[in-house]
Amino acid sequence: MSSLLLFDIDGTMLRAYGAGSRAMMRAAVEVLGERCHGAKINIGGALDPWIFEELARHGGYSIDAAAHSAFRERYTVRLIEELDAADKPAQAMPGVLELLGALREQPHVTLGMLTGNYPQTGAYKLRRVGIDPTWFSPIAWGDSAPSRPGLVRAALAQSPAHQPCDVIIIGDTPRDVHCALENGARCLAVGTGDHSLEELRAAGAHEVVADLSDASVLHAMLRAGR
Ligand SMILES: [Mg+2]
Repeated sequence: MSSLLLFDIDGTMLRAYGAGSRAMMRAAVEVLGERCHGAKINIGGALDPWIFEELARHGGYSIDAAAHSAFRERYTVRLIEELDAADKPAQAMPGVLELLGALREQPHVTLGMLTGNYPQTGAYKLRRVGIDPTWFSPIAWGDSAPSRPGLVRAALAQSPAHQPCDVIIIGDTPRDVHCALENGARCLAVGTGDHSLEELRAAGAHEVVADLSDASVLHAMLRAGR
């Protein structure tokens, strides 16, 4: 049986230096209103539709499917602008391109993705840093389930040959760790986001690495899973 790797995007495969957050705030203010400003939202590992709901809740705005749809469209436009205008361009995290290239050659590895991003904007971010979203299957996007643990089940539903024990979540936040633990999967946590290795270990990550330039820990997890 192959292992199913589910890679997170932001803070794990790439960093965009806040372009996503800035674009979301601009889109929310344009679609809902100025009262979205000042919202304190823990966005690390959160699902994009939930972030939109939190922005609306902060501003006291009622939302419906039409508002959400308008937000998604506006966010896509603003994200492209923010990425184009940024002083620091989005970039792949250390070792990620090399690791993905190597994993794609491995017969006992299924390369998948699990992310809070909307599909369109998530795919756009990846392409900006030279990662092709079509390398990944299954993919659980931020609108595939109402919660991050639910995304694991959404990915498994697309890949019926795999069990939760075959899954390794690779992510940078305690939410990545928790979604693995809640589903009986393993988690390799990476310190390239906003959380320290100690925090990620304390959250229950099975293994932690500073970044993905040293793939030996992941390869050991793959061997142990077979
Ligand atoms: Mg992340």
